[in-house]
Amino acid sequence: MKTVINTEEKTIFFSFEDFKAKIVEGNCCFICGAEASSKEFNDEHIIPNWVLHRFGLHKKRITLPNGTKFNYGQYKIPCCKDCNSKLGETFEVPISELLKKDFVDIRKELSDDREKAALLFNWLALIFFKTHLKDRTLEMNRDKRFNDGKIGDHHYWEDMHHIHCLIRSFYTGAEISPEVYGTMLIFPIADFEHDNLFDYIDTPYGKVAMIRIGSFCMIIVIDDCRGSLNVWNDLRKLKGSLNSYQIREIIAHLNAININLKNRPAFKSLIRDNGEGKYTIFAQLPPLWELKEEQTVIEDRSFLLHHYISIKVELNDHNLKVLQEIKMGHYSFLFNERGEFLSNE
Ligand SMILES: [Zn+2]
Repeated sequence: MKTVINTEEKTIFFSFEDFKAKIVEGNCCFICGAEASSKEFNDEHIIPNWVLHRFGLHKKRITLPNGTKFNYGQYKIPCCKDCNSKLGETFEVPISELLKKDFVDIRKELSDDREKAALLFNWLALIFFKTHLKDRTLEMNRDKRFNDGKIGDHHYWEDMHHIHCLIRSFYTGAEISPEVYGTMLIFPIADFEHDNLFDYIDTPYGKVAMIRIGSFCMIIVIDDCRGSLNVWNDLRKLKGSLNSYQIREIIAHLNAININLKNRPAFKSLIRDNGEGKYTIFAQLPPLWELKEEQTVIEDRSFLLHHYISIKVELNDHNLKVLQEIKMGHYSFLFNERGEFLSNE
């Protein structure tokens, strides 16, 4: 599909080629596509400024996929001043208000107000998109002798193109059909997990993003159209609060499910050229939600969980044994051998 520009010179839809040239490879505003020389730019914080303030993160450092530590305060992507203000009004003002509340109130508000739930989903998808866009400027290998390219060279930009359409819908006025939204879960965090009140993890392949804000965390699977909920029956066994190991297992599992769906949903942008230029993003769902092969799901889950846990724990004899079990797919932080949920209560 070609780039669509409306009568007010606003880019409603970027063709994949224009998306790659302007947003991924260029330095244009990631929302409106304006050239850096044509407008005032003030750049967008990847992790929202109110989150940095609330958890005192400005001077702290985020660890990137290549192991680089980056100051949160400088972790930004190109954005013009106008779009930056609109992002603030659209997302950060209402979401920061919502996430100030406690878990029970948030959950109630989300189940009563579908628009709020959609906004929260898009907010988390926006953070996911921003982190991946930033990767295009970061070296894969920090050792300059190796020419391994940028981290972003390894992303599937075709998939990111859909996510880009989703996160700029507030700007384009695109209507998002309900089936487009993926899995969204919200869990309280166990009381003893008081050391890291902020946490963020995402996976480029399975398109899972998790953010911890104080006493709860949210997890989304951006492009599974809730297929994961249909194939992971044990998900409903999770009751009460979770610890950070259990959350990592959920991320690893959702990632493995999403990359192993037998039939994937297909996303489409439809722009009716009937004078109004009505734009809808919708999804064609597979007739049946199925996984390719159970064994590959276990392998993919174990691989990622092993990675998360090995960077989190001290590598003593006991933990090395646990890591080996994880690698073999024989260890779970969520369920015992009888498949019962390991509660933190
Ligand atoms: Zn802009």
